[in-house]
Amino acid sequence: MSERAAPFYCPYCGDEDLRPSDEGHGAWECGACNRAFRLKFLGLLTRGLQRADHEGDERI
Ligand SMILES: [Zn+2]
Repeated sequence: MSERAAPFYCPYCGDEDLRPSDEGHGAWECGACNRAFRLKFLGLLTRGLQRADHEGDERI
């Protein structure tokens, strides 16, 4: 099972110009602020799943 989480916005500048990075899976590059970052799945929360819309600011 592969981890595929696509961010909607750059966590640093909030731009949507994101593209997958060559660094490996979970790695993304922001074209706006030129940062690279990695998403990592930590586990499920005990409170269960909650759908976050685009408006929602997912703070992990
Ligand atoms: Zn950015």
